[in-house]
Amino acid sequence: MKKVLVTGGTGLVGKALETVIKKEQPTDEKWFFAGSKDGDLTNLASTQALFEREKPTHVIHLAALVGGLFYNMNNNLDFLRNNLLINDHVLQTAHEQGCKKVVSCLSTCIFPDKTSYPIDETMVHNGPPHPSNYGYSYAKRLIDIQNHAYHDKYGHLYTSVIPCNIFGPHDNYKPEGHVIPGLINRMYKLRLDQPDVPEGEKVFTVFGSGKPLRQFIYSLDLAKLIIWVLRNYDSVEPIVLSVDEEQEVTILEVAQAIAKALNFKGKLVCDTSKADGQYKKTASNAKLRSLLPNFVFTNFETAIKESVQWYVDNYNQARK
Ligand code: NAP
Ligand code: GDP
Repeated sequence: MKKVLVTGGTGLVGKALETVIKKEQPTDEKWFFAGSKDGDLTNLASTQALFEREKPTHVIHLAALVGGLFYNMNNNLDFLRNNLLINDHVLQTAHEQGCKKVVSCLSTCIFPDKTSYPIDETMVHNGPPHPSNYGYSYAKRLIDIQNHAYHDKYGHLYTSVIPCNIFGPHDNYKPEGHVIPGLINRMYKLRLDQPDVPEGEKVFTVFGSGKPLRQFIYSLDLAKLIIWVLRNYDSVEPIVLSVDEEQEVTILEVAQAIAKALNFKGKLVCDTSKADGQYKKTASNAKLRSLLPNFVFTNFETAIKESVQWYVDNYNQARK
């Protein structure tokens, strides 16, 4: 019987994994979804206590200090230190407790800033990341280095996945979060805050120029792919888990899709005094496609509709 510990099990991706596993009900795996209440992973003793309690044979390591562009820009030191500590404690404790496999989570936003496109798994360390999120990026890049070092010294199968931008139910709707939950929360609240302004006269502000390009994966699709990696992908080298390059959208298109899902009829304006961050980070999913050619990603508009509906239905409990 496999015992799978999911660190970061209470977050956006962790909750999606829990939803997929609850539906699947595997008979040969027991899953435990840990949040920070189950143990602060910046603390070695509480990381060890969590592993001793749960005795995992396999780990999906999602826990991290995570945030959107604006939170990263002002907190690079915290992103660097927290994530270095969390990753070192989780990987070393997994080693000490004899875990068979660890799948950790990188991100396409840790790729080099000045690069050719599309970016792929072989290019993670090829140049400095975008200056807005260098703390997060270098901490994440080191996971790949750690995975190789554990393999070289002990032969361990500690690997990593590289998702593009993620969204879905249970997202982080606080100002510190990413663009999709930020837009959903701000657009919904604009309605609540301006009940007397006619719908067509309401003005919604998209931060930045609206021109940057992003690939977005629905958290439930990503969860299925991470489970596939846990069960079937036996290489230390990272693997990009992203929608196709053709599915890249501009931030303004994202705002338009959210407006449609919320039936918002007002005007969208771009505030160019706010940062754009990286213009694009187009990633190739050719490696994934070669190993899993038939995977069907949820249509972007459908996934946006489901995510908006989740937020509306769970407004009182959502992190905001
Ligand atoms: P999230 O919703 O912010 O969740 C973060 C998770 O980490 C929560 O379960 C949180 O626990 C846990 N956590 C944070 N600090 C912790 C600590 N000190 N000790 C123990 N647990 C701690 O993040 P997410 O979006 O699901 O991200 C999951 C993974 O995907 C991360 O590794 C992230 O870097 C990566 N990723 C995210 C995106 C994206 O667009 N969101 C894109 C690419 C990659 P509590 O909530 O219980 O405090
Ligand atoms: P990134 O993909 O790592 O750059 O992080 P984000 O998801 O935070 O931001 C993506 C893009 O969305 C950037 O160009 C932001 O300027 C833009 N953006 C527009 N409105 C918002 C918003 O309300 N919140 C956030 N976080 N970004 C926004």
